Amino acid sequence: MTEKPKKQKNWLFYLVIVLLVVAVIYMMNNQPSGKSITYSEFQDKVVAGEVTHVKTVGNTVYIRIKDSKITEANFIKGKKGDFTTTFINSQELIEFMNDYNNGQLTSQNGVAPTEKVVVSYNLQGESLLSQLLPYLSIGAVIIVAIIIVRTIAETSSKNMAFGKSRARNVERSKVKFSDVAGSEEEKEELKEIVDFLKNPRKYTELGARIPKGVLLVGSPGTGKTLLAKAIAGECNAPFFSISGSDFVEMYVGVGASRVRDLFDQAKRSAPCIIFIDEIDAVGRQRGAGLGGGNDEREQTLNQLLVQMDGFEANEGIIVIAATNRPDVLDPALMRPGRFDRQVYINMPDVKAREKILKVHARNKKFTDDVDLENIAKLTSGFSGADLENLLNEAAILAGRDNRVKINMIDIQEAVNKVIMGPQKKSRVVTERDREITAFHEAGHAILHKKLEFCDEVQEVSIIPRGMAGGYTLSRPDTDDNYATLNKLNDMIASFMGGRIAESIRFGDITTGASNDIEQATKIARKMVTELGMSADLKFINLGSSSEVFIGRDYQTQVLYSDDTASKIDAEILKILNYNYERAEKILKDNWDKITSLSELLLKKNVAYKEELDSIMEGKSVKQIIANMNRKENKKKKQQEKERQEKILQEQKRLEEIKAKTLLALKNEGLLIEKPIEKTENKQILNENDKKDTKND
Ligand code: ADP
Ligand code: MG
Ligand code: ZN
Repeated sequence: MTEKPKKQKNWLFYLVIVLLVVAVIYMMNNQPSGKSITYSEFQDKVVAGEVTHVKTVGNTVYIRIKDSKITEANFIKGKKGDFTTTFINSQELIEFMNDYNNGQLTSQNGVAPTEKVVVSYNLQGESLLSQLLPYLSIGAVIIVAIIIVRTIAETSSKNMAFGKSRARNVERSKVKFSDVAGSEEEKEELKEIVDFLKNPRKYTELGARIPKGVLLVGSPGTGKTLLAKAIAGECNAPFFSISGSDFVEMYVGVGASRVRDLFDQAKRSAPCIIFIDEIDAVGRQRGAGLGGGNDEREQTLNQLLVQMDGFEANEGIIVIAATNRPDVLDPALMRPGRFDRQVYINMPDVKAREKILKVHARNKKFTDDVDLENIAKLTSGFSGADLENLLNEAAILAGRDNRVKINMIDIQEAVNKVIMGPQKKSRVVTERDREITAFHEAGHAILHKKLEFCDEVQEVSIIPRGMAGGYTLSRPDTDDNYATLNKLNDMIASFMGGRIAESIRFGDITTGASNDIEQATKIARKMVTELGMSADLKFINLGSSSEVFIGRDYQTQVLYSDDTASKIDAEILKILNYNYERAEKILKDNWDKITSLSELLLKKNVAYKEELDSIMEGKSVKQIIANMNRKENKKKKQQEKERQEKILQEQKRLEEIKAKTLLALKNEGLLIEKPIEKTENKQILNENDKKDTKND
């Protein structure tokens, strides 16, 4: 490993030498032959009558004198002369030669020339570029050499000095606390730290001990990295940012020395901040996980612990780390004197979601019907990253339609896209499948409506999306954290609606319900094994959630007897059967609603909350469709209006550019101000052009 870069280095070194030699030879070959003289020396020679031939190539003048060793033919062909010089002004040279040949210049002894000088001008023959070529090629060689030297330096610093930390100093972060919406308490806590780094004396004089380490804990997308960047943007202290996975890259034994190097660097530039993103990559509990390969990580973690103990609390270094898996972190990391302060960043609630939406709406335009408060209500369970993504998707949808503003339909579609992936309108669906899907989704939707504790249905659709053939989209309208037993039962029942509706309608069942069955069973199992919600087993944890697979252990441990296992199965079955019967009864009692909704779905593909309410009120499908069409027409007109507006705007912009250009031309005197018809105008412009070229 260590030898390879060395070899590479030698190889590149020789390449540079060869390139340089080639360049020098090239230049020597292209040097004009002939003694170089000044322009006035040249003029003297001409006037003295010594010169027989003059030839210019580019701005080099080749001069042949009487009794020259260069034959006339060779002189005319090649780039050779007895003397060479350069001129500045071609006009002047031509005039000078003309004057001489016309006998207007006399030599010192007053004798007019007997023989005229043969002149040939090739003013463009050798462009400036080709004259500069030798110099350019030197330049190129130097540039190549620099690049190569740099690459060598980089590869060697990567491969040879790989123990060096790769922390990036992101001092110039532009993120401010104002860009982080919601999470006010968290920001308050972190502002303290910014303040400490700005005025450490204020705190140390009071004898306060500032925490060495702050751990930001929160689900993915809640803005942990963003908050850390905001700290960097707010305080002027140096900010070293590194990701946990950087420590455990590539080579064995690198992680630990990287940690050491990082802290050395930090100590030299204190007061400063070290930010370790995704610390769980190094900070996992020691002595766990699948066999070998972990020594490396453990050494890194040990080194991190040693380093964090190695500096005093008020030395001016604050280590901030972020993770979404605090449960797998080694407890030693959390001990006082290390990451003793933890800041929990929650999923945003309604108000926070609205604020986050406002932050990301700052650079976007919306139609009047878009209400961020309303969107915030629709997006329970969305993280900050989801919300950012949502508005971005909506903007893309509007742009694709050539509209200038984002409307509510874009938003709705974007919500669906973020949750379930894009619509697959072009997927081939047979009429039979459509009908099955329509009844299946109608079954889910009507159950949602009829069951007391189900979330509000936002949209039912039989357009394929992601993996699903259709979908019933419901969003909670509150941010409630706890689910009640009743709600869990209703959720299970609603998952069964699809299968039940199919079996009632077609007298047969399909494969379309596999995901529903899986979800329902999962909830029922959790109720029995973890939530203590079964009649028979009550208050007991029999669980081994999937956590253990990713976390500390790699094997599920079964802590109960076979007897209990069969009891669990029986309890799960009981819950499922109870809900199946409930659901079946509700659907049978409301079969007219199912047929109406599936009819509507087959005709229009989607139904929103409003249409669903109409169906529950018992309105006829015809009437509902008429209403939908009316709404759609209105929207279409609105969109058409927007499109026209955009076209007008574009036209106006072009006119303005045109006017500006004309004005500029006028100011430059390139356009004669005279209101003439277009064709004539053109001619005048052309004539002007011609004049200009002649003047040149
Ligand atoms: P994490 O590191 O917690 O996984 P990030 O900080 O990378 O999440 O957040 C991803 C993106 O989500 C951010 O770049 C930002 O656009 C958006 N975001 C997340 N939380 C917020 C917030 N509170 N305010 C504004 N934008 C946010
Ligand atoms: Mg992050
Ligand atoms: Zn289903």
